[in-house]
Amino acid sequence: MTHNQTQANHGAEGVADVTRRRIGLFGGTFDPPHLGHLVVADQVRSELGLDECWFVVANDPWQKSGWRTVTPAAQRLELVEAALSGADGLRSCDVELEEEGPSYTIDTLTTLQDRFPDVDWLIVIGQDAASRLDTWERADRLRSVGEFIVVNRPGAPSAMPPGWRLQRVDVPPLDISSTDLRTRFGAGRSVRFLVPDPVIDLVDRWGIYRPGS
Ligand code: ATP
Ligand code: MG
Repeated sequence: MTHNQTQANHGAEGVADVTRRRIGLFGGTFDPPHLGHLVVADQVRSELGLDECWFVVANDPWQKSGWRTVTPAAQRLELVEAALSGADGLRSCDVELEEEGPSYTIDTLTTLQDRFPDVDWLIVIGQDAASRLDTWERADRLRSVGEFIVVNRPGAPSAMPPGWRLQRVDVPPLDISSTDLRTRFGAGRSVRFLVPDPVIDLVDRWGIYRPGS
């Protein structure tokens, strides 16, 4: 259950006036989740007054899985749950793990719109991902139905593709990436304060990101 349920107020005529909820959909590989992700989700939620922000864990990140080993989705989901424990208004979402194979944002959005008709979904993405939106699956359809929140990211291109509904939210710039963190884990260097402690504990317990793992 969510912490902020839809309110149904019945007026004098007994007609339900349903207040819609606004939820951020923050998709990613989260391999591993880090402070950059948490700050983005929290800032967007608070700046836009969203009810919640959901971390949608990609099952098979199709733009990545061809060229590097991606940690199994179930483990990445567990890492996200560990990262979000106690984080008010931030939740994990496993909808993309229900089906085998690649997951596409256009399908995820459609599924969630069908399941939660009282919710307006806002797709949250970093500037690096936003600059590549035209390459996404069924981009024409996604362009016509998706509403996007774009956050700044150090080193990412500033030019955005035309024709998309993009709203910019400025967040404190944090030059943190999962790629760099995997390298740091692999080299035995410290990642403390870059990755939540419960995530570090799981990574250490599972021995992932180590050379040869
Ligand atoms: P990788 O290096 O493996 O690609 P990542 O750090 O980019 O990992 P992803 O899971 O690919 O993390 O990103 C999920 C979403 O979070 C994307 O929209 C990405 O742009 C955004 N994002 C990740 N890190 C940051 C950051 N430090 N600042 C702003 N946005 C970020
Ligand atoms: Mg990335």
